[in-house]
Amino acid sequence: MYRSHNCGELNASHINKEVTLAGWVQKSRDKGFIVWVDLRDRYGITQLVFDEERTSKDMMDQAQNLGREFVIQVKGTVIERASKNPNIPTGEIEILVSELNILNEAKLPPFTIEDKTDGGEDIRMKYRYLDIRRNPVKNSLIFRHKVTQEVRNYLSKEGFIEVETPYLIKSTPEGARDFVVPSRMNEGQFYALPQSPQTFKQLLMVGGMDKYFQIVKCFRDEDLRADRQPEFTQIDCEMAFIEQEDILNAFEGLTRHLLKEVNGVEVDKFPRIQYDDAMRLYGNDKPDIRFGMEFGELNEVAQHKDFSVFNSAELVVGIAVPGGNSYTRKEIDKLIDWVKRPQVGALGMVYCRCNEDGTFKSSVDKFYVQDDLAKWAEATGAKAGDLICILSGVKNKVRAQLSALRMELAERLGLRKPDEFAPLWVMDFPLLEWDEETERYHAMHHPFTSPKPGQLELLKTDPGAVKANAYDLVLNGNEIGGGSIRIHDKETQSLMFDYLGFTPEEAKAQFGFLMDAFQYGAPPHGGLAFGLDRLVAILGGQETIRDFIAFPKNNSGRDVMIDAPAPIDDNQLEELSLKLNIKE
Ligand code: ASP
Repeated sequence: MYRSHNCGELNASHINKEVTLAGWVQKSRDKGFIVWVDLRDRYGITQLVFDEERTSKDMMDQAQNLGREFVIQVKGTVIERASKNPNIPTGEIEILVSELNILNEAKLPPFTIEDKTDGGEDIRMKYRYLDIRRNPVKNSLIFRHKVTQEVRNYLSKEGFIEVETPYLIKSTPEGARDFVVPSRMNEGQFYALPQSPQTFKQLLMVGGMDKYFQIVKCFRDEDLRADRQPEFTQIDCEMAFIEQEDILNAFEGLTRHLLKEVNGVEVDKFPRIQYDDAMRLYGNDKPDIRFGMEFGELNEVAQHKDFSVFNSAELVVGIAVPGGNSYTRKEIDKLIDWVKRPQVGALGMVYCRCNEDGTFKSSVDKFYVQDDLAKWAEATGAKAGDLICILSGVKNKVRAQLSALRMELAERLGLRKPDEFAPLWVMDFPLLEWDEETERYHAMHHPFTSPKPGQLELLKTDPGAVKANAYDLVLNGNEIGGGSIRIHDKETQSLMFDYLGFTPEEAKAQFGFLMDAFQYGAPPHGGLAFGLDRLVAILGGQETIRDFIAFPKNNSGRDVMIDAPAPIDDNQLEELSLKLNIKE
């Protein structure tokens, strides 16, 4: 038996008990005649004591030579501590050691195994197994476990069945590039790793499974923006014989359950907003509604004077910054510089101070009188003491820019509180989105999403205007889930592929299996998927997902610990009938 107790559970009630503990040496303090060692395991830290009077000379020597992170086992007696530590559960006791076994020595770790470590991100990733010994990472992984357990509990209770689907498949278009795997047994042929189990879960509905879920890895070969992972986890779900409302209710229920069980927070019915309204009011399809600062469109009240910048703009739009009139000129100039950074890309910013006495002072006073500015204040909801920030330009761009400013200001004003939860359904997304690069429409969600009833015809005349039965769940400004009601008949699905520019041959080659299945009695169905990594991070009050993933990859898609990806040898290439063609 390696241990009778763990390092987090002994307290005053155990005094005089003989115990055996095992763990890592967190640190030791050597006073010559007495040595204290903090012994750590997953559960906590227990103090060990060796002293000249009660410990043999040999063991004293051994204790004095214990290095950080040595793995040891001790037997001893629980005794009361002379100076107690009220900050840890084991702080009232220590173990007077009678037997010390060194189970394994350890090299000095490259960074301190402390909550606040001296190790930077790169080194921590290289030695992730040491990083996992630290409380912040360890606790994040335990937290993730708790969330996934609650997901499984809830969905199982609601009658969902967890079914595993294969990883070696064929492309599932979710808008990213596929990771591919060469097949040795089928020369020149490749599997694609799933971007999601989308087609399989639809086939499970045709198979009559009715309510499916899976906590599943998905793979997307994208250029990694900060805080994305090439492999990530979804809570993937699908239901048959349902309407959109049933899905929203089921997964609102799941989210509410998680907030309650994991965070102890009760949330009212989730508000819903139309995609078009989200774009108009927040410039964003995943608005953070923990705070207001809604957009006020100003075309009508700003395009009647000689200010050509506004007159030539497709959209003039502003937000009121609460208390922003207290900003100095210098601070406002900095804000203007901020929106002009290439990452945001605005050409400039007009502002208007709302003075306490009800007057206004704008950066374009040459063109606008007090009455005009009062209308700006009305449109943006600005009150005395606020600052109105206004951007103008091409609609889509200017909305994105003002949205970035809104988030930045909210962050600075402390309005994005991690312990506040504001979920929101965003509804009725466009079915298609225009891709500048390929100059084609792409499915905004994926090609299996059904258009709103009666809008199929519109596809021919005004494709961009067609709305889909598609919805996203947004939490605190993050998209945590999204899904849709699916097309479930072969004709509509063929039509969709056709509109998306697939030839019938391509559609058949890629998705023939699905269209075949649709001929054998496909029930009406729909579903959604939650991004588990992000969901866990948000519930955990963090912005970054990495600490909630045991072995994450860096921004170049590398695992720096195992050093992957890596070349394969010539024999392997040969076996796979592959030849490299690397351009210098
Ligand atoms: N497969 C979709 C995704 O990964 C989710 C869904 O439509 O259910 O975003």
